[in-house]
Amino acid sequence: MGRRVVIVGGGTAGWLTAGYLAKRLAADLPGGVAITLVESTEIGILGVGEGTFPTIRKTLATIGISESDLVRHCGASFKQGAKFAHWRHAPGAAGPDHYTHPFQVAAQDDGLELLPYWLLGHGGTANWDEVCSPQKKAADAHRAPKLPSHPDYVAPLNYAYHFDAVALAALLRDRAVASGVTHIVDTVTEVIVDGDGAIGGIDTAAHGRLTADLYIDCTGFRAELIGRALGIPYRSCRDVLFCDSALAMQVPHRDAQEPIVSYTVATAQEAGWVWDIGLDRRRGVGHVYSSAHTDDAAAEAKLRAYIGPASADLDMRKIRFEAGYREVNWHKNCVAIGLSSGFFEPLEATGIVFSEVAAGMVANLFPWGGDYETSARQFNAVMLKRYERARDFIKLHYCISERRDSDFWHDNVAAASIPDSLHELLDRWRFRPPTEIDVDANIDIFTEASWQYVLYGMGWTTDLSARAGTYRHAEAARRAFAAVDRQAAYAIANLPSNRQLIEHARHHR
Ligand code: FAD
Repeated sequence: MGRRVVIVGGGTAGWLTAGYLAKRLAADLPGGVAITLVESTEIGILGVGEGTFPTIRKTLATIGISESDLVRHCGASFKQGAKFAHWRHAPGAAGPDHYTHPFQVAAQDDGLELLPYWLLGHGGTANWDEVCSPQKKAADAHRAPKLPSHPDYVAPLNYAYHFDAVALAALLRDRAVASGVTHIVDTVTEVIVDGDGAIGGIDTAAHGRLTADLYIDCTGFRAELIGRALGIPYRSCRDVLFCDSALAMQVPHRDAQEPIVSYTVATAQEAGWVWDIGLDRRRGVGHVYSSAHTDDAAAEAKLRAYIGPASADLDMRKIRFEAGYREVNWHKNCVAIGLSSGFFEPLEATGIVFSEVAAGMVANLFPWGGDYETSARQFNAVMLKRYERARDFIKLHYCISERRDSDFWHDNVAAASIPDSLHELLDRWRFRPPTEIDVDANIDIFTEASWQYVLYGMGWTTDLSARAGTYRHAEAARRAFAAVDRQAAYAIANLPSNRQLIEHARHHR
């Protein structure tokens, strides 16, 4: 008999995994893996998670979703990174009030590393994000990352998407079912655990017992299989990442021509931050905060103040979560993907990308020969390291801030709240900038470029003075910075606006 997979959960993680594995494991072919997804409409999905990472383009292409589908069905817009306001200094304080983390990596002229030259002052006074690539200026001008004539998923400027999470789950569902996935709407009432600690089957309210070779837990925070049934512990990161609550609203655009911002805008607050995501017809705006540092009423007031009078008639959702992850995500014949596996907080959109990489690994490590333990060991080792590194990257945004205007910021810079692994990285970067030797392409979601954008956006000092004389190409670097400036002007003059590209994608398949 062929191999069978049962996925429990039909949120973004469940349907993304189903659609992706259906293609990679040939669910529609006789020798392929039969995939069934069970989801409970009574329980429903979380339905937030509107910002993504550039990896999503390859994932969606594999699943078979076009950009036109994405715009038409999910209100998608083009995302070129994140803009961070007031993370370094509180509003009103002297100094730069924002920086960006664009997806485009630094331009290099004939392999010349520009960052040391910028650190030594050859790039002028503008911030690193502005001098190293044209993307910040182009996105500030609401430009899209590409021309309408560029094919799906291809562009001169690196990008991802913003989209409506509920609509995306529905689109992913339709594609997965078209690729051969069996869809069952039912509630799992019991998970049977065998004597050897593996899952022996899952009982559903109306469809009886389902069995499979591999069970994938995409049940969100409930973690019905990996947590409740198998008892695999969740490791909290609350001592490092304090945010544990969110209030979310959907804000209609003022008018049909309001520019659609091509970044996620993250504005720091006294006890957290506000996300602002521009979709085609509305914005998704939410306040993420630490309940130990503020209360819900004060957090709501901050969110309403941010949105302004338009917030008066809007519905609001409240979500609780606990930053953390499981150190074991593949146990025997069960793999956790999505929120059941771990979640830190919305900053830097690490949620969906973790589902993407986990689904990719399951496809590569699928135990065709029954070799569960070998696959599990590799999966767990890589995912654990990924979680630790992503935790450190998110913490970086907080822990080098100069803000001291609330307990939240005081606590965030306290040395005890910073993992040893992050202390180690910061020590390295006092006298040299992050380079490729600091990241592992097999593991890290964020490259050295991402660490550089956040570090230098936050005003981190890397002292190169002892070897300033060894940088002999200052003139070439200055020419390269001038070339980036010209590229930015060209991009602003020639690229369509985010809204124009969205409208084009809507009308052209
Ligand atoms: P859910 O959406 O909760 O789905 C769980 C599924 O399991 C549902 O279908 C449910 O019905 C089913 N289920 C549960 N129990 C049973 C049962 N007993 N029987 C049958 N079915 C069951 N990520 C990003 O990448 N970018 C972002 O910008 C981002 N923002 C976020 C903001 C907030 C405030 C939060 C909390 C998260 C955010 N995330 C973000 C994370 C993102 O929302 C999740 O990664 C994504 O929604 C995946 O969720 P999921 O599918 O794991 O869980």
